[in-house]
Amino acid sequence: MCCSHELTEKDLAPITANPIFLEKIKGMRFFDPHVHMTSRTTDDYQAMADAGVVAIIEPAFWLGQPRTGVDTFRDYFNSLIGWERFRSSQFGIKHYCTIGLNSKEANNERLAEQVMEILPLFIYKEGVVGVGEIGFDDQTPAEDKYYRAQLELAKEAMLPVQIHTPHRDKKKGTQRSMDIAIEHGLDPRMIIVDHNNEETVKEVLDRGFWAAFTIYPFTKMGNERMVEIVKQYGSERIMINSAADWGISDPLAVPKTAALMLERGISIKDIELVCYQNAIDAFAQSGQINVSEFDTVKEIDQNLKYNGSSVLRGGQQPRVDKNATIIR
Ligand SMILES: [Zn+2]
Repeated sequence: MCCSHELTEKDLAPITANPIFLEKIKGMRFFDPHVHMTSRTTDDYQAMADAGVVAIIEPAFWLGQPRTGVDTFRDYFNSLIGWERFRSSQFGIKHYCTIGLNSKEANNERLAEQVMEILPLFIYKEGVVGVGEIGFDDQTPAEDKYYRAQLELAKEAMLPVQIHTPHRDKKKGTQRSMDIAIEHGLDPRMIIVDHNNEETVKEVLDRGFWAAFTIYPFTKMGNERMVEIVKQYGSERIMINSAADWGISDPLAVPKTAALMLERGISIKDIELVCYQNAIDAFAQSGQINVSEFDTVKEIDQNLKYNGSSVLRGGQQPRVDKNATIIR
């Protein structure tokens, strides 16, 4: 009967009731260590903040189509440490990033050489918690070359490495990523191996690396499978993320998975490790994470501007946190 149903004002009003999963995790804090917010909206930021996400890491990645010049990389890296960090702060979420040349674009060698030259200008900046996301896509010789070069860069800068493991031929690609890191003398404790699944997790943990899992809706890794992995392997050195980007993905994957874990009998302590603390411990090795900033960023003042730009559009009312120290 939807066609004959006339919309009333009530139908058009925003839905205010919280989804059930939010009720379950009320008061918990989450850290999403892999999410591409550049591709997401302010609604996503608001929903994440409402669900308890207090801090995030945005890895530099592939933007869906190849870039044609080094300047677009430079602007992108600048936006990760500039505008995007500001935008996140306007929703009370502490934003960090990792900087690197992604595996797909490593195959354009002419451009890759130029990107390698500018990486040192960015990896030492404040709030950059690692070199990433780097690794293999198609496992080509060019990917191998620039993965190795960036491992050397991370070693020199004493920064953690965030490894993207390939979707095709994952097991082999994951093993190869770890072998090469060891060959270059990196400590497994400085390396976060991402996009794991049931096939790769055991070896990653056995060899002393951090094992990150991306919860993808519909395909690959659903959060029910994630619950089973935590039941089997525990919570040590395991972390989860949304890897939400411009594709079909869910920026609430971490809080939703926490709610599911709670429902399926995983202890609060284990949930806290997997959804918050482990990611902090791994990336804080950069010396760039100070958890007290998760609280100070909560004092939101949307009147603020970044280089003259604001998240507000004409006529919108800014949100000013009543608990902020400064009164304007
Ligand atoms: Zn990613």
